[in-house]
Amino acid sequence: PNADALTRAESLIRTVPDYPEPGVLFRDITPLLADAVALRACIDGLIAPFAGQFDVVAGIEARGFLIAGAVATVANVGLVPIRKAGKLPRPAASVSYALEYGTATIEAHDDIAQGTRVLLLDDVLATGGTLAAGHQVVAELGGVVVGTAVLMELAALGGRALVPDTHALFTV
Ligand code: AMP
Repeated sequence: PNADALTRAESLIRTVPDYPEPGVLFRDITPLLADAVALRACIDGLIAPFAGQFDVVAGIEARGFLIAGAVATVANVGLVPIRKAGKLPRPAASVSYALEYGTATIEAHDDIAQGTRVLLLDDVLATGGTLAAGHQVVAELGGVVVGTAVLMELAALGGRALVPDTHALFTV
């Protein structure tokens, strides 16, 4: 991947204080998505460590979908969406996990064969709960997670402890 374009891409992740609630520094990737060169550099950078090692990507709703769609096309593999509960007509895997307040559930269809090698994708690694649940969803479907990749890791939140294999393009 192009180092200058990656530096530019990181600068295009906008930090929005107090969104969606007071005290949260929201990392908004929409300016990065809107930039052709930065977006392509990020997609190539996410794939690079796993080239040839995955048969399908799984993207976590909602921003993970945007990344997974681009990665799937560039890497010539299929895509499995991991959705929030209640959105899929025939979920075969369903995993609940703890949030700071309450719980969340994510689900997926059984559109992968046993042993399929899966690259799991999302935009941001924060506490790691979402990606850890994504691992479980893939395992319930009989897939094998060969790696997890995100654009940005928020190191202070310690999510790497839950998903130690995560490849983060940028760390703050
Ligand atoms: P977590 O389960 O805590 O790792 O949170 C990860 C999910 O929440 C990802 O899907 C992110 O999109 C979203 N998220 C958590 N914190 C932030 C943040 N500060 N900025 C942007 N997205 C975030």
